[in-house]
Amino acid sequence: MGIVVQKYGGSSVADAAGVKRVAQRIIATKKAGHDVVVVVSAMGDTTDELIDLANEVTPLPPARELDMLLTAGERISMAVLAMAIQSLGFDARSFTGSQAGVITDAEHGRAKIIDVTPGRIVEALGEGAIAIVAGFQGVSQTTKDITTLGRGGSDTTAVALAVALKADVCEIYSDVDGIFTADPRIEPRARKVPRISYEETLEMAAQGAKILHLRCVEYARRYDMPIHVRSSFSDKEGTWVVKAEDVTEGDTMEAAIITGVAHDRSQAKITVVGVPDKVGEAAAIFRAVAEAQTNIDMIVQNVSAAATGRTDISFTLPRAEGQAAMAALSKLEGEVGYERLQYDDSVGKVSVVGAGMSTAPGITATFFAALADAGVNIEMISTSEIRVSVVVAESQVEAAVNAAHAAYNLGSDEIEAVVYGGTGR
Ligand code: ASP
Ligand code: MG
Repeated sequence: MGIVVQKYGGSSVADAAGVKRVAQRIIATKKAGHDVVVVVSAMGDTTDELIDLANEVTPLPPARELDMLLTAGERISMAVLAMAIQSLGFDARSFTGSQAGVITDAEHGRAKIIDVTPGRIVEALGEGAIAIVAGFQGVSQTTKDITTLGRGGSDTTAVALAVALKADVCEIYSDVDGIFTADPRIEPRARKVPRISYEETLEMAAQGAKILHLRCVEYARRYDMPIHVRSSFSDKEGTWVVKAEDVTEGDTMEAAIITGVAHDRSQAKITVVGVPDKVGEAAAIFRAVAEAQTNIDMIVQNVSAAATGRTDISFTLPRAEGQAAMAALSKLEGEVGYERLQYDDSVGKVSVVGAGMSTAPGITATFFAALADAGVNIEMISTSEIRVSVVVAESQVEAAVNAAHAAYNLGSDEIEAVVYGGTGR
């Protein structure tokens, strides 16, 4: 039998008991005859705590040192997990990202993997050992410094290793039983999706569903590596993320046009009020925002009022980037001549995603009608081939998710979703 890569998230290894439980699971896979490579995240909320610590020391931690600090979280879990496995009589060896051959660019805090040379992992497997790799980290090819891949990056480590090792599957273990039609934390009737395409998973992840790291799905799609998303707290079959052709009819519900509802509470909205309706104004605004390294999402420009010749431009962005974008825009006041800036960080985004939507009329109408019935006001709208998203008040996110979920009959009759762990931090 071939190689299985398993990734365990922070909530699965939150404490010693969790580490021991995970060790048992890994050994069971080894006993079933597989070569096992494990990628592990930092225990519980360790990464957040390390970030808090750095911020107590200095308001702007230097990127190189912050990466050095954060990678310590994964090094703790890899070492204790290797110890736990050894104490049960099996050979296990831990490796940092660098030792495992995860080579990245030099962008601290958001490094991209450019190569994986897992010589030491292959060697360990050849000697019958279980290899444990610290997730979310690598080493820069140019600077030789230690880098991190961005929050949640252990998923990407796992898929990259699975691809480099030609593994049969990459299993991603978390505290829920798979990918659900909505976040079970706010939609109790959410149903587990047995199979889902890479494309739909990408849309769900990009729209805030906290299921998988976005880049891990892109990576898996590029190399066609099947991902099995499942819980480390149960033995249930989870969700298979596979190529679209492999999502067969039987796997999807009768109304398979919509696969799920995603939501995102990490957004903010900036409105530039009273922008003179002239050529080049939008370009100036978005150039400034881009220079502040802001990732903008939805944009709406109102029709200008004939009387004033002015218009409002609104866009959404990650809340964490709000201050920088506002500062950049303030500097433009003279150049653009807008009237004022508005910042609203109590917005949320709700999206319906489904591959079948591109050929089914009326999807958007159903969504908007459901929101209207639930008394949810739509502030902004955007669409892709397989997605419709709306921005609403943050206080209405839950109602919007529940309304959309019901409107597309996504709910199961029984409560299927169990959230086993995690502090949700
Ligand atoms: N420990 C890192 C984080 O919390 C990486 C990961 O969990 O994948 O973001
Ligand atoms: Mg984590």
